Amino acid sequence: MEALDIRENEPLAAHTTFRIGGNARYFARVSSENELADAITFAHAQSAPVFILGGGSNLLVADSGFEGLVIKNEIKGVEVREQENLVFIDVGAGESWDGFVEYCINNGYWGIENLSAIPGTVGAAPVQNIGAYGIEVKDAIESVRTVDIRTGEQRTFSNTECGFSYRESFFKTVEGKNFFITHVEFRVSRLPRPNLSYKDIKEYFTNEEKPSIVQIRDAVVKIRSGKFPDLSQFGTAGSFWKNQIISIDVYEKLKVAYPLVPSFPAPEGLVKIPLAWILDHVCGLKGHKIGKVSLYKNQPLVLYAESGATASEVEAFATAIERAVKEKTGIDIEREVKSLSC
Ligand SMILES: Cc1cc2nc3c(=O)[nH]c(=O)nc-3n(C[C@H](O)[C@H](O)[C@H](O)COP(=O)(O)OP(=O)(O)OC[C@H]3O[C@@H](n4cnc5c(N)ncnc54)[C@H](O)[C@@H]3O)c2cc1C
Repeated sequence: MEALDIRENEPLAAHTTFRIGGNARYFARVSSENELADAITFAHAQSAPVFILGGGSNLLVADSGFEGLVIKNEIKGVEVREQENLVFIDVGAGESWDGFVEYCINNGYWGIENLSAIPGTVGAAPVQNIGAYGIEVKDAIESVRTVDIRTGEQRTFSNTECGFSYRESFFKTVEGKNFFITHVEFRVSRLPRPNLSYKDIKEYFTNEEKPSIVQIRDAVVKIRSGKFPDLSQFGTAGSFWKNQIISIDVYEKLKVAYPLVPSFPAPEGLVKIPLAWILDHVCGLKGHKIGKVSLYKNQPLVLYAESGATASEVEAFATAIERAVKEKTGIDIEREVKSLSC
């Protein structure tokens, strides 16, 4: 067996969609559980902290980089088990997320078509419970297989044990960050079950009785194409912040000041408000730009950077936006993008 290739001082900007940030002290790609075990052994021997990297599409790396071992997940493979109309698919966590969605579309497996065209890997999908167009990935996840990077032991989490909620899971907690996701088992269906509940999708299909799975994917790809800047020109990690979930009391106060504020019911009697609306209508920040960093004109939740921007410039810009929202509404908004620093 070949020794694992561990690089030193690897530029991380090239491994993220922001294309920003410094070097990793050590960097290894793993394509099997054996290689992962070797990488973990190396990190322990160097007393180096470990960071788990997928496609780097939800990540802002500090200009100073990371003084540890970055392990890039490239574990592949797809295994299918059919049980009447249900289909269970065990997927290597290093597979491309959208490649997997396309695989399901091609085979007529329903359940994740609204999550088309989200960048990144299968293994990161449970981490923030990716969601779009009325669907969250939690509804298609059966279980998540992991390796504990402290001990090297395997552990499988059931859907309930993953602790999913809006853009959250156990894997984002201090304890959960110790688990390297190697495989995700999905439960999808052969039976058509289009979810057209989201406004943009509903409007797209006004003339269709019941769109096919291919038509839904095409619609999502088309709708999404207007919502993000051109990734070949600019760096971004998509939505920089979450839509805020607030208590009914805070919402009532907000409504007095801004009667048109939209709202959606959230679990436990809470209220979800679209932050894009606040940024646009309350703070007047749609398209806001300082130096090389801007909010996207078509979707103000999306922060993007021109070539040459630094992580400190993005940080300063994001902090100023967070302060502006706090001043106008009293709400502390939360970031969706993960920051990686020493
Ligand atoms: C243009 C654009 C559009 C986007 N649209 C959406 C959207 O509609 N909905 C949405 O939810 N997100 C969206 N995102 C965010 C992003 O694509 C998702 O969060 C995606 O799941 C990140 O995958 P990744 O492999 O790139 O993860 P990375 O950015 O590499 O990592 C993200 C986090 O997950 C952890 N992680 C990654 N892999 C593993 C693993 N195998 N085991 C344990 N932890 C791991 C990392 O340590 C890090 O904390 C968008 C991003 C972009 C750039």
